[in-house]
Amino acid sequence: MIVVMKIGVTEEQIERVIEQLNDHGFDVHRSSGSQQTILGAIGVKPAFDPRHLQLLDGVAEVHRVTEPYKLASRSWKPENTVVQVGNVQIGGSEVVVMAGPCSIESEEQIFQTAEHVKACGAKVLRGGAFKPRSSPYSFQGLGEAGLVMMRSAADAHGLLVITELLDSAHADVVCKYADIIQIGARNMQNYSLLRVAGQSGRPVFLKRGLSATIEEWLMSAEYILAENNPNVILCERGIRTFETYTRNTLDLSAVPVVKSRSHLPIVVDPSHGVGIRNKILPMALAAVAAGADGLMIEVHPNPAEALSDGPQSLPFDHFSTLMDQVRRIAEVIGRSIPSA
Ligand code: PEP
Ligand code: MN
Repeated sequence: MIVVMKIGVTEEQIERVIEQLNDHGFDVHRSSGSQQTILGAIGVKPAFDPRHLQLLDGVAEVHRVTEPYKLASRSWKPENTVVQVGNVQIGGSEVVVMAGPCSIESEEQIFQTAEHVKACGAKVLRGGAFKPRSSPYSFQGLGEAGLVMMRSAADAHGLLVITELLDSAHADVVCKYADIIQIGARNMQNYSLLRVAGQSGRPVFLKRGLSATIEEWLMSAEYILAENNPNVILCERGIRTFETYTRNTLDLSAVPVVKSRSHLPIVVDPSHGVGIRNKILPMALAAVAAGADGLMIEVHPNPAEALSDGPQSLPFDHFSTLMDQVRRIAEVIGRSIPSA
């Protein structure tokens, strides 16, 4: 941390800041010029809030030079984290595709979808059973009955299961059926839920909040990692901006930013990112080109009839095309998407 003192500050005020820093365990290096004094505070103290210093007399500016997150940071763990789930590695050389409906609706729907996405090379079946809907009157999901259907569809086709944990009260039931626990965008800062997900021991797929900065998102990952759960996968799913022609603004620059700041794998969800079927393919290609470790794509046998997110769900033929094209981009950058 760098503390810049005001011009004309007194020696007493400087000493007071140094004392505060020492009390918090920092080593302090002082540099006094003819006009201004600058203090360099050395030490990693993630819990220290620099605003304490800002309030002291004589302090002009305080700058952090290290991130407030530790376990999620690339400086803490320089090598990439590869999350192993069954025989699938997320964060390795393969780009992992997770696909399926927004919501599990029926046995027929989830079995047909599982068969198709598996045939195209997806490794993980997605589907919501407890849905975070904007309206309390919209379809809320089939609950445990849906999870039973998804588990058997996934097992029948050799796929893993990812589903959202909406509420800590559902943790046991979700863990019974899921290989990967999804934390939705709306719950990214639900810290008690993050702790429960961390304690579950299951890999956790952490979606970025609708208006979360990358730093806030990595702080949320820190909650899960702090529960001794190293298997965190980040997911960029679009953020809210002033733009209205897409549902959200898919922040693909988050991919290289996360890669430089953190060792955690990152998956991109262009379905929620843009919210319109015909914009998903180009953004999926761009996500893989940008270095995403995986894609999450909503697929439905009959999107016009879907109970949630139909306009952004791909029918089977569109998903096949998407997989053919992203596979080619993956190869160009030295990665792969194996065929089924
Ligand atoms: C979902 O994956 O269906 C979902 C609700 O996503 P998000 O939390 O990103 O809105
Ligand atoms: Mn959805």
